[in-house]
Amino acid sequence: MSLQSVVPKEINEHLRLYSKEPWEVQFLEECGICGSKIDEFGLCGCDTGGGD
Ligand SMILES: [Zn+2]
Repeated sequence: MSLQSVVPKEINEHLRLYSKEPWEVQFLEECGICGSKIDEFGLCGCDTGGGD
């Protein structure tokens, strides 16, 4: 069973981008676009918070 099957997409993205474990990432607020939690970097899984 892979880790990807159990972690939400937005968290999995962090694992890929920052090599940070899901439980190490702090989610501070909700994204107004997709409703997902925005992480400590101000980024969201829908890629709207981080700009380009
Ligand atoms: Zn979002």
